[in-house]
Amino acid sequence: MELTFKEFLRGGKEQLTAAGFAELEAEHLLAHTLGLSRMDLHNPLTVENALSAIGDMSVVEETFWKLLDRRCAHEPLQYLTGVAYFRHLEIKVGPGVLVPRPESELLVESALTYIERIDGPVSVVDLGAGSGALALSIATEAPNTHVIAVEKSAEAIYWLKKNVSFIDEKVRILESDVSTALEGVKCDVVIANPPYVPDSEELPRDVKEHEPAVALFGGSDGMKTPRLFVSTAVRLLKPGGFLAIEHHESQGEKITEVLTEDFTDIILHKDLSSRPRFTTGIRR
Ligand code: GLN
Repeated sequence: MELTFKEFLRGGKEQLTAAGFAELEAEHLLAHTLGLSRMDLHNPLTVENALSAIGDMSVVEETFWKLLDRRCAHEPLQYLTGVAYFRHLEIKVGPGVLVPRPESELLVESALTYIERIDGPVSVVDLGAGSGALALSIATEAPNTHVIAVEKSAEAIYWLKKNVSFIDEKVRILESDVSTALEGVKCDVVIANPPYVPDSEELPRDVKEHEPAVALFGGSDGMKTPRLFVSTAVRLLKPGGFLAIEHHESQGEKITEVLTEDFTDIILHKDLSSRPRFTTGIRR
């Protein structure tokens, strides 16, 4: 006998919890299967309409079970649904690009606070922009900005282009290595979430097996890439310009050390779980 919608949602939840995942993820996956939002699942009429538009319940079931199996193999939920929520944005993501993390939302907040205090246009460069979550948040939340998103990975640029074209076409994409990007250019703000995880760190399976290593690992102590990003920020920023750079919880002191010569007002900020997560400074 064919399972009802409620029964297979319950089955999905059971499969996920048995494998150690949150049962709520079953709702995200089923909503995605039906082309609905998660909240829509609680509206029987909307569900009914979606099911009859698809017509064949077994197609829904098969797609849903396949997604559940992939999630149980630790594919990130956001790769399966194709979307990550970041601040007020829906960012398109998939294999090849880092899923934007909530801790970076706070970095954006601190950059916006600096930007608010400036009159007139503000030039912002996002180094290693990935999906574009940070760059697009700034561009949409602070309309007085001109934002350039620098990214070297062709796979990440595929997603970056999609997000820029869906969300804000004014963001300029520059395909370049950070070290050589924008020679001769000066800007007011640099934001960066560089790969900073120490090479030897054991990451959760979802991250280690599916997200791009190039966006995660920053050398033996994780500081090699952040140092390169800081030297580019030093080159790009006007005197009085603002830098916000995300880092590993163990790198607060090291980043301060790296910034001391060229920056004043160096502040270490904590993430939502009170771990040192990003540092801001003003270019001397
Ligand atoms: N914080 C990320 C993680 O959870 C790492 C992001 C990065 O290296 N920029 O793995």
